[in-house]
Order: sequence, then structure tokens, then C-alpha cells
Amino acid sequence: MERPRFKRILLKLSGEVLMGQGQFGIDPETVARVAREIADVAAQYELCLVVGGGNIFRGLAAAAKGFDRTSADYMGMLATVMNALAVQNALEQIGVDTRVQSAIPMSTVCEPFIRRRAERHLQKGRIVIFAAGTGNPYFTTDSAAALRAAEMGCDALFKGTSVDGVYNADPKKDPTATRYETVTFNRVLADNLKVMDASAVALCRDNDIPIVVFNIREQGNLAHVLAGSGTATVVQN
Ligand code: UDP
Repeated sequence: MERPRFKRILLKLSGEVLMGQGQFGIDPETVARVAREIADVAAQYELCLVVGGGNIFRGLAAAAKGFDRTSADYMGMLATVMNALAVQNALEQIGVDTRVQSAIPMSTVCEPFIRRRAERHLQKGRIVIFAAGTGNPYFTTDSAAALRAAEMGCDALFKGTSVDGVYNADPKKDPTATRYETVTFNRVLADNLKVMDASAVALCRDNDIPIVVFNIREQGNLAHVLAGSGTATVVQN
């Protein structure tokens, strides 16, 4: 089924996408591959990126082991900055102009998040990588992706993960599970389907920003899915 095409999009990359075959951290070869795929489509779209940090540190998991939740979440946000710099580095090595903007100001490392400046970068053809999530503990980078997509007026949010869409049950546990081609935000929330966390889904619903869930580990899939083909699930109103 052909899906609509978009001009300005936000691509959310989970931290785990950057791990490659590893269980933790950043795999330079994997980051380089993801960067090449992004570079292949960069000229056709105005691209915003939000990167997660789960490959390095997750606040909730650390809090479960006794860390103070707020401090742990700040550590998680700092992890996303490391990932953002890794993606920036890989993109710039292949000639793609980028800027990193952090929700937590750290002026010697990258720009602070300034929406109008981000807008200018997009107009100049640069990819803007939004780091440090929302800047607030108790949130996730999914919520940051939904927030930045709304703020930057993105036509859609593409969530690159290691599964090829949204299923009506967990395909690892239930062999009869089937993938949705499209599904409504309200169905996702009512059935607690694993797409993004509920606050991110609600923000996209309320601002009418479709979420396209696809497998970014599959080579070449990003370009297909952005072009409206390829295997994915579209979450919409
Ligand atoms: N985080 C946060 N506020 C935000 C975004 C992220 O506190 O607005 C922290 C949180 O601890 C989270 C960690 O950063 O566990 C890494 O982000 P996330 O788990 O969303 O990364 P992903 O799962 O996408 O790799």
C-alpha cells in the first residue's frame, strides 16, 4: 500500500539501533551504516533527528537498582548527547551538514535547543539532531521526539526500531500475532500496544502527527519507508 509522502520529518532512533550486534554502547560501523542511509535521503527531506540513550543508560532501570530516579534520568539524557555526537560525527564524515542542539545547555559541546535557530538550519539543508531528550527527568526520548516533531512542524514522526511495525500481540510470544498496516492512536492507547510511551502517542494524536514504525536495522529500509513503501505500521487518527 502506498503511503503519503512528507516534506519535513522527524526520525527517532532508539539507542539500541546504534549498538549493532553488541549488548551495550556505540558500534562505529553500525553508526556509519545508519548515517549512510540517512545521507541517502537527506537531500529530499528536511530532517530532524532525535536519538535515544538506552544503549548506554536508562534512568528507570538504574532507579530500580537503587539510583535516585532524577539523577539517573539526567545520566540517561547525557547518554543521548553522546549518541547525538556519534551520529553527527558519522554524518559529517560523509559530507552531511548537521547541528546538534541539546535540551540541556552545554555550550562547549553543542548548541542549546533554540527552535528558531533549528528552523534556520533546516532551511539551509542541515540535519538538526536534538539531544538530551526533553531536558526533564521522568520523560523519554519518545516524548522528546513527539515534542520536537510538534514544535518543528514535522509532517510525520518516523520511529526506527528493531521491529518492522506494530503487532496486535507480542510476536515473540504469540505466533498468531499480526502486524497492522495502519492503526489509530486510540487503539494503540486502549490496547497498550508497544509503539511509544503513552505520553508520546497522545501528543502525536493531539497534534495529528502520524507515527511510522519501521525496522531501521534492515538495510535500505529507511529510504523505502520514507518514500511511502516498505514494511511499516502507520499510527494515525
Ligand atoms: N530521559 C529523560 N528525559 C527525557 C529523555 C530521556 O529523563 O526527556 C532519560 C531517561 O532516563 C531514559 C534515558 O534518558 O531512560 C534514555 O532515553 P530513552 O530510554 O528514551 O532511550 P531509547 O530507549 O530511545 O534508546
